[in-house]
Amino acid sequence: MYLLHTEELKMFVGQLRKMVDNKVVPRAAEIDEKGEFPWDLKELFQETGLFGLAVPEQYGGAHQGHIYTCLAVEEIARACVSSSLIVQGQALGWDPILIGGTEAQKKKYGPMVSTGEVIISFGLTEPGAGSDSGAMATRAVKKGDKYIINGTKCFITNGPVANLITVFAMTDASKGVKGISAFVVPTDAPGYSVARWESKMGIKGSPTGQLVFEDVEIPAENLIGQEGKGFVYAMQTLDRSRPVIGAQACGVAKGALEHAIKYAKERVQFGKPIGNFQGIGWMLADMASEIDAARSLVYQAAQLIDEDNPNRSYLSAASKLVASNTAMKVTTDALQIAGGYGYMTEFPFERMMRDAKITQIYEGTNQIMKLIISRELLK
Ligand SMILES: Cc1cc2nc3c(=O)[nH]c(=O)nc-3n(C[C@H](O)[C@H](O)[C@H](O)COP(=O)(O)OP(=O)(O)OC[C@H]3O[C@@H](n4cnc5c(N)ncnc54)[C@H](O)[C@@H]3O)c2cc1C
Repeated sequence: MYLLHTEELKMFVGQLRKMVDNKVVPRAAEIDEKGEFPWDLKELFQETGLFGLAVPEQYGGAHQGHIYTCLAVEEIARACVSSSLIVQGQALGWDPILIGGTEAQKKKYGPMVSTGEVIISFGLTEPGAGSDSGAMATRAVKKGDKYIINGTKCFITNGPVANLITVFAMTDASKGVKGISAFVVPTDAPGYSVARWESKMGIKGSPTGQLVFEDVEIPAENLIGQEGKGFVYAMQTLDRSRPVIGAQACGVAKGALEHAIKYAKERVQFGKPIGNFQGIGWMLADMASEIDAARSLVYQAAQLIDEDNPNRSYLSAASKLVASNTAMKVTTDALQIAGGYGYMTEFPFERMMRDAKITQIYEGTNQIMKLIISRELLK
């Protein structure tokens, strides 16, 4: 198991925490209010090398273990979940190439992803194919040395600001999920457009888009790995990414807990700080313990991913399930501790509660996490 007490990890988290406190905390409320992608923070993460954490050294990055991506996303989400999605989304878009790509593809795309020269998104979901991604309608047809892509992807994180999208499309619909292939599609290709920029309940600074592909022609060399392996690459990508969402959930929960503790110490009712009432103190105790329990699942899942352990799908789903439910409960309780003030947009509680909700939905809903976990148990 990862020990957060190693000097390297302690130093990494310490530096991140300082950066987040100085640069992300002051921007978080404004990002939510304006619903704008924080280009300044994208540049900051770029300069500090955070995009390289998911890319191995031989492909231009600085990957030292999955825990580093988890920790970076957790620390940023403590202040602002929208901003944490800049780092998370980049890893998610890149992972299909890392998992299935040829050596030449990894060498081509790795450096541009890790330096942040390009933003890359992950395009799996469609209006008619959410949890059941095998029901996708997007098609890719090979013509000579090109593929022609037609279809619509929806709810794609960073899609509206991306330079590259890893797109999943049917190359042979008669084979079901074995007929799905993955492609790298540049967003300047003719026929590509952003049809909708979604308006959302939370993570308002994270652009979510509906993307349309109309006779988009890409060179055959943009096929990731092999034809028919796209579904496997997508599922393995989600196995890698779910603990990162778990870390994001732990981050927003930790942020809410920190605000709740501060509030419980300062707010006086009946002549004493409300934290001195057992009813509030015990809520804080539950919140802290549940976050720590969720976090240890996340770190264990990250370790299993590095080891390529066969139990990684189980723990990856379990870590996201537990951490996202914890985030929802903790952010709701934190708001309750702040009473009427918690409900006001002047305080961060309601933003954190709105942002926490998404962790129970994307990268597979928690119902789907239970499906994966129970399948693993019943194998
Ligand atoms: C803000 C946001 C960002 C996103 N980013 C991305 C992205 O970057 N890339 C991408 O490809 N996708 C992305 N998604 C899509 C996301 O992964 C899907 O929304 C999610 O997987 C659920 O699909 P759906 O919304 O179509 O819900 P549905 O699949 O229609 O599910 C509706 C309900 O039915 C339940 N359900 C479905 N099937 C079952 C079952 N077998 N058993 C029990 N219950 C079931 C679900 O749990 C849910 O409660 C994003 C979504 C959002 C909201």
